[in-house]
Amino acid sequence: MSQPSDICPDCGGAQAPGALNCPQCNRLVHAEELKELAATATQAEQAGDKTAALAAWRRGLDLLPPHSAQYAGIRERVLKLSREVDAGAPQRAGKGIAPKWIAGLGAAGLLLWKLKFVVVWVVTKAKFLALGLSKSGTVFSMVLSLGVYWAAFGWKFAAGLIVSIYIHEMGHVWALRKFGIAAEAPMFIPGLGAFIRAKQYPADPREDARVGLAGPLWGLAAAVAAWLIALATGWQSMAAIAKIGAWINLFNLLPVPPLDGGRGFRALTRMQRIAITAAMFAAWFLTAEGLLILLAIVGVVRCMQTAPESGDRRAFAEFLFLLAALSALAAIPVVV
Ligand SMILES: [Zn+2]
Ligand SMILES: [Zn+2]
Repeated sequence: MSQPSDICPDCGGAQAPGALNCPQCNRLVHAEELKELAATATQAEQAGDKTAALAAWRRGLDLLPPHSAQYAGIRERVLKLSREVDAGAPQRAGKGIAPKWIAGLGAAGLLLWKLKFVVVWVVTKAKFLALGLSKSGTVFSMVLSLGVYWAAFGWKFAAGLIVSIYIHEMGHVWALRKFGIAAEAPMFIPGLGAFIRAKQYPADPREDARVGLAGPLWGLAAAVAAWLIALATGWQSMAAIAKIGAWINLFNLLPVPPLDGGRGFRALTRMQRIAITAAMFAAWFLTAEGLLILLAIVGVVRCMQTAPESGDRRAFAEFLFLLAALSALAAIPVVV
């Protein structure tokens, strides 16, 4: 592994500490490491692991001067792989098809087989959520935050709030890692929420929207789960957690950077923005939730700004879905 030094080993010229290339002969300071990363990425691509390939290529980008031809080439590659990850990994042969003996069990067997995928999906997500709790900084900041909310709202509500915020943030981490972006588990800021540190930026507005909207999507799932528990048990604290969780996620849909909604809007055309802003007004009209009029007003401002010519349909659909579901959930009646 090459260490950056102040003297270029090729031409003997001086170079600034931390420079990525020699100003005299253009030698790449991290040439060796870049070669290794390229080998790792190519190997991962051949093995079909696009996420690992993306992670290696992105680390390579960090070591290249942004104006170099190599940088441009790798960036193209990252964008191509990222779009492929988005489109979904091609199913390995036989993976999605039930074995013969399952099919022989008839409809009940097939239902169980389908259910197996749901169970695997839930278990994978749950394992991932547990993983974030192995980081001491996350847990420590979480406990601090819990104390603050506890003093303000009582422990039940405080715990529900923390879990909701945590799941929302881990949605971002999940999406970031899917695109090979190194990201750590969230840190909580008592009284304010939480944030995650990512080592790289998303490659384009589409990827940024995917990562941005993943938080509210996971947050919505958490709020729905709390609401279902409330319905099943009649436990009003859970209903309150569902309602405030939906409200917080709705707030994050404010279409202004760096909030999640702002990242979603980046990928939308003007017409798509107008449609979502109209939906915000409609949701406000239906629920009388004051937050929605704020969203709509900010939406109007964003409709007047420059927007991309071709929009991202998935970001558009996700945004509308989140808006509808979160508005409805934020409007549920809660007896306290
Ligand atoms: Zn040199
Ligand atoms: Zn978020």
